[in-house]
Amino acid sequence: MNQKEKVDIILYNGVVLTINCSDEIIDYGAIAIKGNRIINLGKSEDIRNKYQAEKEIDVNRGVIMPGLVNTHTHLAMSLFRGLADDLSLDKWLNEHIFPAEEKFINKDSAYWGSLLSCAELILSGTTTFCDMYFFEKETGFAAEKAGVRGVIGEGIVSEFGDENEIFANKMELTAELLDKFEKSSLVSIAIEPHSCYTCSKEILIKAKRFADENNLLFVTHLCETKKEVEGIKNKLGMSPVEYLDEIGVLDERTLAAHCVWLSDADIDVLKKKDVKISHCPNSNTKLASGIAPVGKLLEKLVIVGLGTDGSASNNNLDMFSEISSASKLSKVSTLNPETLTARKTIRMATINGAKALGMEREIGSLEIGKKADIIILDFNKPHLVPIYNYYSHLVYSVSGGDVQSCIIDGKIVMEERKILSFNVEEVMQKVNEIARKINVL
Ligand SMILES: [Zn+2]
Repeated sequence: MNQKEKVDIILYNGVVLTINCSDEIIDYGAIAIKGNRIINLGKSEDIRNKYQAEKEIDVNRGVIMPGLVNTHTHLAMSLFRGLADDLSLDKWLNEHIFPAEEKFINKDSAYWGSLLSCAELILSGTTTFCDMYFFEKETGFAAEKAGVRGVIGEGIVSEFGDENEIFANKMELTAELLDKFEKSSLVSIAIEPHSCYTCSKEILIKAKRFADENNLLFVTHLCETKKEVEGIKNKLGMSPVEYLDEIGVLDERTLAAHCVWLSDADIDVLKKKDVKISHCPNSNTKLASGIAPVGKLLEKLVIVGLGTDGSASNNNLDMFSEISSASKLSKVSTLNPETLTARKTIRMATINGAKALGMEREIGSLEIGKKADIIILDFNKPHLVPIYNYYSHLVYSVSGGDVQSCIIDGKIVMEERKILSFNVEEVMQKVNEIARKINVL
């Protein structure tokens, strides 16, 4: 008898959506995982003949697919979920969120808010997030505790105080992050000035220089509202995109969140500089910011990933809801049902999100040698029967609650809807304690 090779986990009897370059689907498929990597995938019979594992999971005809990549969020802001709704970005931010952050965001609250969000990410199938906020070290600790992959960066806002002092402090914190998470297999670091309307030109340039010197992703909000674009145009005589291009901060290692208000000329610049976009449809609709021109961006082959933005403006982190909104909004805004097909939308939430973060060699699809960031969805449910097309269900019928199990970096962090990496009850209790103080505002 042939000696079988030992691996750590085998998932079998599933429908494997690889999201590889030809969108190959393996029916009755299986995946073998060793350490934190996928070491093989194929037909269940072949994989089970070749490998054996302590943990072999019968997926029972469920869908096995890459974990979703949330390219823009502010995890700790789940503390403010539902605190202020039905407002424009401007009012919401200046009159509610900034004052609440000033008073209630600290090391402790940032940690518990981030950990609460990690629970939500895992439960709805997101395995990688890109975060911008304050006390990001705490967010990094929360990601490690939860076992979620994350790109974290201190949000830089230079308009409230001495900008040189603020920048020096932020770079000190960033150096600490680089040191603290140097050996982490889950957490990596980005440089994240909030926007061109809250940061000076000098700060943006210095931040980009620091990012380049350390080979880090540069993340910023861009062209989120009409008001932002008009403000910059009135002040500088050019669009925010033209401005950022002129000061030299746009290139292939730049990730711009939102990009709702773009001219055709702006889109050409973004393409030419290979800037990556994080499209956040739910936040953009809830704050009445507008609808990003995703059809035009895709036509020009700009890389677009999906993001939820923070829970205070969404108000959840369910990427399947984002997937559904992205596809439908693209259709209604262009009056063309093919602008963002189901298949394109799933690529946006997986491999294109990975490309947006510069991580496509490691995550975003199920291929030999890639990190084992995998979700399993239970399709044995009334709202997912019958099945003619898996992509159709994933975009138009599934919600985050259909994610049954979640593997990140080769570790099972959720099995049969139970989070294994930490105590969610305790986290909810802590967040409720913090929220009681916020309520007395
Ligand atoms: Zn944001």
